[in-house]
Amino acid sequence: MAEEKPGKNISFMRSLCMGEIEEDVIVPFPQIKEEEKQTLKDAMSTLGPWLTPRKEDYRKWDRKGEMPTEFLQEMREMGMFGLIVPEEHGGLGFGSSAYSRFLQELSKYDGAVAITAGAHSSIGMRGLLLFGTPAQKTKYFPKLASGEMIAAFCLTEPGAGSDAAAIKSKAVLDGNEWVLSGQKLWITNGGIAQFYTVFARTEGPEGQMTAFIITRDMAGVSVGPHEDKMGLRASSTTTVSFDKVRVPKENILGQVGKGFKVAMGILNSGRTGLGGGCVGSMKRCIELATKQAKERTQFGKPIAEFGLVKQKIGHMIVDCYATESAVSMVAGLVDQGYSDYAVEAAISKVFATECLWRTADEALQTAAGNGFMCEFPYERILRDCRVNRIFEGTNDILRLFIALTAMNDAGKELKELATSLKGIFNEPIKGFGILSDYAIKQVSQATGIGSGKIAFTKIHASLQFATDIFEEGTKDLTTATSRILRKHGKDIINKQFATKRLADIMIDLFVLSCVISRVNSSIAKNGETATQPEKEILEVFSGQVRRRTKGNFSKIDNNDDELIKGLADNAFAAEKYSWDSI
Ligand SMILES: Cc1cc2nc3c(=O)[nH]c(=O)nc-3n(C[C@H](O)[C@H](O)[C@H](O)COP(=O)(O)OP(=O)(O)OC[C@H]3O[C@@H](n4cnc5c(N)ncnc54)[C@H](O)[C@@H]3O)c2cc1C
Repeated sequence: MAEEKPGKNISFMRSLCMGEIEEDVIVPFPQIKEEEKQTLKDAMSTLGPWLTPRKEDYRKWDRKGEMPTEFLQEMREMGMFGLIVPEEHGGLGFGSSAYSRFLQELSKYDGAVAITAGAHSSIGMRGLLLFGTPAQKTKYFPKLASGEMIAAFCLTEPGAGSDAAAIKSKAVLDGNEWVLSGQKLWITNGGIAQFYTVFARTEGPEGQMTAFIITRDMAGVSVGPHEDKMGLRASSTTTVSFDKVRVPKENILGQVGKGFKVAMGILNSGRTGLGGGCVGSMKRCIELATKQAKERTQFGKPIAEFGLVKQKIGHMIVDCYATESAVSMVAGLVDQGYSDYAVEAAISKVFATECLWRTADEALQTAAGNGFMCEFPYERILRDCRVNRIFEGTNDILRLFIALTAMNDAGKELKELATSLKGIFNEPIKGFGILSDYAIKQVSQATGIGSGKIAFTKIHASLQFATDIFEEGTKDLTTATSRILRKHGKDIINKQFATKRLADIMIDLFVLSCVISRVNSSIAKNGETATQPEKEILEVFSGQVRRRTKGNFSKIDNNDDELIKGLADNAFAAEKYSWDSI
């Protein structure tokens, strides 16, 4: 993992919400480090010969809901558990970009296999990488790299899903040990793990929650039966229970009371693994659907020749390229040592998981009847990818997080703005001197006068059609943020329809900035002619962004939110749909 570097505490999106385009953060488009490329290529090249012949097995394991122990052993031998473990501890030492790219490749074969490796590295042992002490790393990394220990992340509980802070698992200090009790729910790798990153309440002046390393061999640890699931059926999901487990003090991860920060740090940093997995599955869907459409003949021609089939494939390509750009960008930010990428990571998770869902659904539609049959992989991909919008933070909660972070920042600035304006009225000369940066940016945005970074300057001239849309969208975003805040004030927390709209504008703008940066770098590398197809993707995507952003913007003041809420409230009261046609 890259260390946080000086000057790297800027968030592109948080700055954008303040009206500033921090171009240097996203341009040029990040590349996987040269020194990692060969190791990555070597590791990826082992996957095809190993996993391609097992196509039938994946289907059998899915039906049975079980991954054979012999295959888990193969995964260990093939190095699937050492991807992000530093080389000095026996792993491949992949940074975020290489890791994300590797998971992309792995996900093309089977979702359950990918999640088993992904949950280990993305969340199970990532806390050790990010917050572990040298002694903890020396003790556990070699076993985690070899897969002798598989890792799991234990946060969710029966009463604490989205509201993770509501966990009831509790740890109490007793001499040199903590005594931890509680039950964790739906833990990926729960049944096969020996290393658990566990979150429990440790109420005290330092904070409410602490992260612990707990191993399976500690007395009081037990796991429940394999859950019968809609998708990812062969991957282990179980409850994990802790009954007065005595945990040595040296097993605390991070600081006592700072467990929530540890949990969020893990989830933010691990998102590029899930994002990479989504890209891999989308590429697989595109391969399957294009072959199917060329082979299947109806009305005397391959269905690939029909406009509505082309429309599906074309949109899949745009979604996949945009997702890949956003996920690679976030991974690049992590690798370059940026510390404040939580909003961007959340955006990439929401966008990637929704694009994959759409792509898998459209691929299945292209295969139609065949798509519905379990003999073909479409229905399994669709089932497997559904949970991506649920775990590691539901997309609904992440949308709230994305927009509320922006509004929190803007709220503070608006307060300053109010103070500054008061200053202007009280002391006209001095007052202008205390105009906050935010106010200056607002003025320069409205008038085009000023020195704020309100336009791209490093993007190839031929992409101006897209930078214009982005810059226009940025104005809409900052106007929307302050308008929503002024309208709802502190009550914004209860105005989720408005919050979601703002989040959707932010999601579109971030992904657009990633696509612009990527196409720009492609032009620099390959020339304009060779980049033409990518420019066309950008043309389609920027058009979509413009239409969606304008739509979201126009609904700030003109919407049917209250009517919709009323309909829902009536349905809650009746607990049913209240109409019938007879
Ligand atoms: C297959 C699988 C594997 C998993 N693996 C792990 C794991 O390894 N480790 C782990 O700790 N957890 C794991 N989870 C748990 C997962 O992270 C949770 O399911 C997720 O956080 C959502 O919690 P919940 O299911 O309790 O939903 P709830 O929190 O009950 O939410 C239900 C619905 O209400 C919405 N909602 C909730 N609060 C709000 C709000 N304030 N505003 C608007 N909408 C709201 C949600 O978006 C959702 O649509 C896994 C889950 C599954 C299904």
